[in-house]
Amino acid sequence: MTKVAAVILGRNASEVERQSRIALAKGADLVELRFDEIADLGTETIRHLAKVVGEHAIATVRSHGQGGAQRRGRAPRSALMKEICGHRFAYVDLELEADEAELDDLARVAHHHGAKVIVSHHFAEAKDVHRASEVLEACGARGDIAKVATPIADFGTAIQLIDLARARANRPPPMVLIGTGTMGMVTRALTDALREEIQYASWGSAAAPGQLPLATAARLRGREPMILGLVGHPLEHSLSPMIHETALAALNLPAVYLPMDIPLDFLDQFLLAVDRLHIRGFNVTHPLKESLAQRVDELDADAERLGAVNTVVVRDGWTVGHNTDVYGFRVSLRALGLRVGERTALVVGAGGAARAVVHVLLREGASVQVTNRTIARAEALADSFDDPVAVVPMEALQRAGPWDLLVNATPIGMKGAAPGLPVPEAVVAKAAFVYDLVYNPTATPLLQAARRLNRPGTSGLDMLLHQAAKAFELWTGQSPPFDAMRRAVKEALR
Ligand code: NAP
Repeated sequence: MTKVAAVILGRNASEVERQSRIALAKGADLVELRFDEIADLGTETIRHLAKVVGEHAIATVRSHGQGGAQRRGRAPRSALMKEICGHRFAYVDLELEADEAELDDLARVAHHHGAKVIVSHHFAEAKDVHRASEVLEACGARGDIAKVATPIADFGTAIQLIDLARARANRPPPMVLIGTGTMGMVTRALTDALREEIQYASWGSAAAPGQLPLATAARLRGREPMILGLVGHPLEHSLSPMIHETALAALNLPAVYLPMDIPLDFLDQFLLAVDRLHIRGFNVTHPLKESLAQRVDELDADAERLGAVNTVVVRDGWTVGHNTDVYGFRVSLRALGLRVGERTALVVGAGGAARAVVHVLLREGASVQVTNRTIARAEALADSFDDPVAVVPMEALQRAGPWDLLVNATPIGMKGAAPGLPVPEAVVAKAAFVYDLVYNPTATPLLQAARRLNRPGTSGLDMLLHQAAKAFELWTGQSPPFDAMRRAVKEALR
């Protein structure tokens, strides 16, 4: 089983000892003592830390050239490494480059004191996988464990790295092969499945980009991993990772939810790889909702009707597309006690969210009007439904209405998007209830206008939570911890 090592970045011996003890108590199998981070490192500190946590520790002095803080020249580093190898640690990390000249001597001393030797290399820039493979072999030839970490620029390279690790998994010596950065997180999530020796996990601040937190790494340890995530390109900030991580942690599932930046021209290759990457499901965002609807093996009724998916479930390589935005909007209407049958509704916007909303409103029996900045898109949306949908140009809204329900399905008012109102306040005044799909901020400009006009309303937060809860249930078969998810989102949006 892969051992989980919490990386400890303390500035002095007592802080390192304290943090190490807590991390071990919280489920770490090992702690990586990053000696390069300790100011005024001397024999006494090394001896003390070896005595108090050495049998559970990896002793590492990461050099500056390999991403660490150690800037000593060759001779002082050599003396320091000899000192460290002369104490009892579970593992000692020797660098293929910085310790090259004395590697075998240092390894002999470390072995004499009962340590296993990790020979490591950390690339500063992304390299092709063949180069990583060559260096892994070189590390493996000198150490008991070979460790290579390389920055990952795109998801395709992460897949290649995983394939390399899988091809090498049964050959000695044991290895650690890490893709750093956000796109490399999947390589970390699969360390156990790839039978790697050590999972380096973050404790407090991450020592390397993309490290999984200790709690997540401990949750995955020794269990069949389930990879979930968000697929889109480019990936903008999303609350989905935080919502799903909260739910996975609450139920202690051996799963992670990762951002996966997948350009359209890589989508087919991605789908071919999902099964061997242990991907059991993912959310889909801009601009891949329609492209995925055309590529999955099966669609549920809502996704088929709309030609767009926001959730994909993978079972034995078979992909099923769902549209949980439809579910989220429908359930949130129910939760609000809003009955829209035979009522009138105005939907502002003609994108994917507007289509999901119109679909629900028509199914509930509402009489629906749509308006949009680009009127041709509103007309195309209206034409795509069998039931009648009226198109009202923006400039005609002053003369239209009143409506029982006004839904904003544009990003106007969203943090970082266009400010202001999607329709003039005089139009808002003609709606009995205002539903803004925007959820960040929760008090959107449109909802503030509604409040001024004494109109009840809601943000898109409940829809967001209900669609996420449905996706979670589809992937895991477990009922989602809805209240914990809601608390986490509210905290994040505060
Ligand atoms: P989309 O497919 O890109 O459509 C965006 C729509 O907004 C289009 O109709 C577009 O008009 C209009 N629009 C964009 N910027 C505008 C501006 N500055 N002025 C006037 N109109 C503008 O996006 P979507 O997926 O439908 O999402 C729309 C919004 O709903 C987003 O803010 C999203 O966060 C929110 N949403 C919320 C939930 C939830 O769970 N609460 C779920 C899905 C979506 P044109 O046609 O003229 O470009």
